[in-house]
Amino acid sequence: MRELPDVLKDWEAVIGLEVHCELTTLETKMFCGCPNTHDAEPNANVCPVCLGMPGALPVPNKAAIESIVRAGLACNCEIQKHSMFYRKHYFYPDMAKNFQTTQGPVAFCMYGHLDLDVAGEGAAERPDGTGVDKAADGSYTTPVRILRIHMEEDAAKMNHLGGEEGRITSATESLIDYNRCGTPLTELVTEPDLRTPEEARLFMEKLRRIYLTLGISDCSMEHGSMRCDGNVSLRRRGETRLGTKTELKNINSFKSLHDGLAYEICRQAEVLEEGGVIYQETRHWEPSRRRTVVMRVKETADDYRLFPDPDLAPYDLTDEFIAHCAAEIPELPDAKRDRYMADFGLKRADAEQIAGDPDCAAFFEEAVAGETTKGAATVANVIVNDLTGYLNAAGIAISETSITPAQVKSLADLLASDAISSNQGREVFGLMAESGDDPAAIVDARGMRQVSDTGALEPIVDAVLARCGEQVEQYRGGNKRVVGFLVGQCMKDSKGKGNPKLFNQLLTAKLEA
Ligand code: ADP
Ligand code: MG
Ligand code: ZN
Repeated sequence: MRELPDVLKDWEAVIGLEVHCELTTLETKMFCGCPNTHDAEPNANVCPVCLGMPGALPVPNKAAIESIVRAGLACNCEIQKHSMFYRKHYFYPDMAKNFQTTQGPVAFCMYGHLDLDVAGEGAAERPDGTGVDKAADGSYTTPVRILRIHMEEDAAKMNHLGGEEGRITSATESLIDYNRCGTPLTELVTEPDLRTPEEARLFMEKLRRIYLTLGISDCSMEHGSMRCDGNVSLRRRGETRLGTKTELKNINSFKSLHDGLAYEICRQAEVLEEGGVIYQETRHWEPSRRRTVVMRVKETADDYRLFPDPDLAPYDLTDEFIAHCAAEIPELPDAKRDRYMADFGLKRADAEQIAGDPDCAAFFEEAVAGETTKGAATVANVIVNDLTGYLNAAGIAISETSITPAQVKSLADLLASDAISSNQGREVFGLMAESGDDPAAIVDARGMRQVSDTGALEPIVDAVLARCGEQVEQYRGGNKRVVGFLVGQCMKDSKGKGNPKLFNQLLTAKLEA
């Protein structure tokens, strides 16, 4: 198969996403009062409504509707004042009532959009001359329309034991847990406006940052509270008609979204170039084997017998309700990123990472309260590099660590004032994470403070220059890089405590004199 960049020169990829997100921060399910938690014993959180007992009547969860309206507003949607819940029929044990309650043609949120900023290597996936204005560095911004965000209920979780390759056979034993059945779920559907796997990935990441900031979900791709289906088709460049799409189901990581779509694009190109046809089907991405396989061919919408749910009255949202939802929207990630760049001079990537996670943003803001720009940039550095690396390795969230903003600030101060080098900084971070001690105390107890006093460093520099006549000759002969070797000698003589930047300055001054 040809590689993606090559394929995209001849073919235009057309991608649309359907993103499901569980409203994990709500206390109760969508249409009943059962707890909305994942950690209970199997089948503990159930009642006649979510088990679909005849005669049990659903009552919509107002807090869920608040959450989805906030999502809609944050995604620039038009909030629909009048909508209805529908029944989508199907037969499978994960929904005991044999239909899923969902929204009909009119969803709470319609016709929104998000703008994507695409930069760096990912921007190269989109060949030039394909309708976006690229900046000198290749970066570009492109709008992605959102058709709708609707409210529905999730199904039960099934666990199939035995059988082969995920297929259910007569040897399979199936376990079912109705705790998730009836929990509040949103689905966002984009228009087919995405053109590269990287754009699809960036869209998901951006949406996740927004949902996290709104506090409507924990948005864990890993645990399935946020998941997406990727629809993709190809057409020859210049063609306007859409090709037949395939759908990659239940993608559970950003990497899988990107790699699965990239594979599927290359696969479709190969089929089409050999004169074959693409069937509209659902496929599954197998990351370990790096391929997609057919799950099922598409059922048509008629099979669902979609009709308004007679147990749920049409839903009317008042202006007051919508205004109340709007008032609860916090500063959104893009605005926060721009503020961090303007107020603290953070690099764009650092600002975006910190602003995209509300817990991380709160941590940062506590650490830099009353701080200058240089100090803030160093705090950001420690958070983005040391702290994030540490949390990832430990598999915990920033809200779960005992490391405090004050400790990070103290470490950043030591770095910003050159009291310790960046190498020492990493070491101090590790010691701090382990012991919980204050970085300044760690540095003092271990005598790690860098010597930045010229008077103390100069004799070392002189001794090194006297000893290394050969390197001094080389330097004067034009090989300026040899200064690195000389700094190394000075560091050795100072037992690692001299400030390497200062050694470099002193050496250079003396060599040039
Ligand atoms: P389905 O009925 O198969 O669910 P929809 O029309 O509801 O299809 O669209 C589902 C998703 O697929 C949307 O995100 C939409 O943008 C995208 N989509 C629709 N047609 C195409 C196509 N030809 N190529 C790529 N994506 C498409
Ligand atoms: Mg669909
Ligand atoms: Zn219930």
